Amino acid sequence: SSALVWLRRDLRCHDQAALYHALRRFERVYCAFVFDTDILDVLPRREDRRVEFIHASVTELHEAFQAMALNGGAPGSGAPGSGTPGVGAPGGGVIVRVGSAARCIVELAQSLGVQEVLTNRDYEPQAVERDQRVKQGLRALGIAFSDYKDQVLQDRDEVLTQQGHPYSVFTPYKRAWLQKLDDFQLKPYPVERYAHHLAALPPGESIPSLEDLGFKTTNLKQLRIPLGMKGAQQLLQDFLPRMHSYDEDRDFPGRKGVSYLSVHLRFGTVSIRQLAALAQERALQGDPGASTWLSELAWRDFYFMILHHHPHVVTQSFRPAYDRVAWDEAPELWQAWCDAQTGYPLVDAAMRQLHQTGYMHNRLRMVVASFLTKDLGIDWRRGERHFAEHLNDYDLSANNGGWQWAASTGCDAQPWFRIFNPVTQSQRFDPDGRFIRKYVPELAKVPDKHIHFPAGMKPAELQACGVHLGQTYPEPIVDHAKARQRTLMRFHFLSEDA
Ligand code: FAD
Repeated sequence: SSALVWLRRDLRCHDQAALYHALRRFERVYCAFVFDTDILDVLPRREDRRVEFIHASVTELHEAFQAMALNGGAPGSGAPGSGTPGVGAPGGGVIVRVGSAARCIVELAQSLGVQEVLTNRDYEPQAVERDQRVKQGLRALGIAFSDYKDQVLQDRDEVLTQQGHPYSVFTPYKRAWLQKLDDFQLKPYPVERYAHHLAALPPGESIPSLEDLGFKTTNLKQLRIPLGMKGAQQLLQDFLPRMHSYDEDRDFPGRKGVSYLSVHLRFGTVSIRQLAALAQERALQGDPGASTWLSELAWRDFYFMILHHHPHVVTQSFRPAYDRVAWDEAPELWQAWCDAQTGYPLVDAAMRQLHQTGYMHNRLRMVVASFLTKDLGIDWRRGERHFAEHLNDYDLSANNGGWQWAASTGCDAQPWFRIFNPVTQSQRFDPDGRFIRKYVPELAKVPDKHIHFPAGMKPAELQACGVHLGQTYPEPIVDHAKARQRTLMRFHFLSEDA
């Protein structure tokens, strides 16, 4: 018997649900990854850190499968479709295809002659629709399709209210989520035990280069972002000794307080179970850093659950009344935000971090999202799309949830009358301007006291640190106090409705 594991956002060879089930149930298991042209063709740039990250991770995985199969004493797998195990070269690997994923997978399953395609569940509406098409295509050929919970700890319907409804507020969800989190959900899938079922690649298979895919290398290597499964474990080892102070350090972008694991969680080069088990063990011993970190993993599950139960959030506000908010077009303000030239140093530093590295610290994501929606009055959807283009860890569920939270349009959002002040946020979370100075070097000589709002300095003070407002660094594009009043007016009708 043979099966095909369709790899997507689960690029690892250990503790992987679909892979485990396939290896346990079938004699020969092929693994495939499709560089999906339906996604790649619409990317705005041919230099994309995510494509490079995926390419490196698939290559690493391919080699890891080969090593595993050898170590596991894998028998040869026979020619595709021949149904004769034990013939052919030993060793697994990843079959790579480039094309429309739905079509490629059906064709591949047919040519390999497998009985089933197994994959890990994806919660994004477009992916759900694609998987439905694959399932139908396979069914017409008499091939089964199954999907598994892998990228979340608790699935869309596992944590429900007492009335059996999905939660829409995080705090009670988290309470129930923590109560339900059990050893089984945290247990790793022992893939290695069945590695001898990994099938050899059909002849002539190879992994296309990044250039073959039509993409160029980015600055990933210069950024020293650790890639693949090895990179994830490296980041985890670096974070473990810091986990206990996560609750104190996580809000300060100038400190190394967070894990930087998001891109690995996005592409599944690390298992969510491994991370949660480590955090849970420490949290149960009373470690406040570990419990706060575990809560962040609960946020992640929460937004996947919200996306599943409320797919309208992709284009609309979670709360329909909020779609009546009249946003401004404001092309010049929008451009200044995108160009990191707003005159608010923390906002500009954050946007430059995003563009230069593909990462942005969580506190800063909240600050710049609030600034765009509440100070500039621009629709959260435009900011959300900008993040989608640039974030290495872009995930529709968390990104949409984060933006709707900041814009006050979402579930569990911050109330619309509570508006972040970009200057006090800066004073609080980057008190000595360490983060600002890194990304806005033109302000390097500005004293700590003024770095959060250089426009508040006297001309002589500005001159003394080499800043010429409007020339070397922009004047603030809006007055926060006035912008705040405009936002209160913009949202005011909601209080009349209430
Ligand atoms: P850590 O602080 O170490 O947290 C560990 C993990 O928990 C993260 O890797 C992530 O998987 C998860 N997590 C943490 N915070 C959240 C959260 N608020 N919601 C959901 N999961 C969370 N996260 C993404 O993974 N992809 C996105 O596209 C994304 N867009 C965002 C947009 C906005 C406007 C906001 C406010 C937040 C967004 N987040 C997103 C959540 C959060 O900012 C990132 O997960 C975090 O900054 C990643 O850094 P880290 O891995 O060091 O996180």
